[in-house]
Amino acid sequence: MNAVDLHSGDDLRELYRELILDHARNPRHFGKIDHPTHTAEGINPLCGDKLRLSVRVDRHGNIADASFEGSGCAISVASASLLTDMIIGVPVAQALTCFDIVTQRLTAPDVDHERDIGIDLSKIKALDGVREFPSRVKCATLAWHALRSAMHGQTAPVSTE
Ligand code: ZN
Repeated sequence: MNAVDLHSGDDLRELYRELILDHARNPRHFGKIDHPTHTAEGINPLCGDKLRLSVRVDRHGNIADASFEGSGCAISVASASLLTDMIIGVPVAQALTCFDIVTQRLTAPDVDHERDIGIDLSKIKALDGVREFPSRVKCATLAWHALRSAMHGQTAPVSTE
């Protein structure tokens, strides 16, 4: 395989599909963390996705640890897994910028999202495929809405409906 093949659309889609399936089958940071400072529950009634996100913010305002529990479709689990992978070690403000970028990428794809915020966003592109399926966008953004809700200290579950 040469470099040109690797960058053709179909191969990229295949790569992203594999990344999603990998995260769905082997979710990272699944379970509980010690002494979470922020938690929030996200519910997507349309699909039946239900997850709880837990985050521990240290005294410097950085996300020291994060995890999620619950169950849902492959997209929602993979997205939560990617989210926790991305935000650990990141300042809270930057994680919330990630929320903006991810939700904008999926809901307003014609906006320029190639902002450099010092975080590797390449894996998030794996979620771009769900744009074509509006009902799945809610699966993909569920964990991110839970993140924002947790950071804002909301106690009621965040629902996509
Ligand atoms: Zn779902």
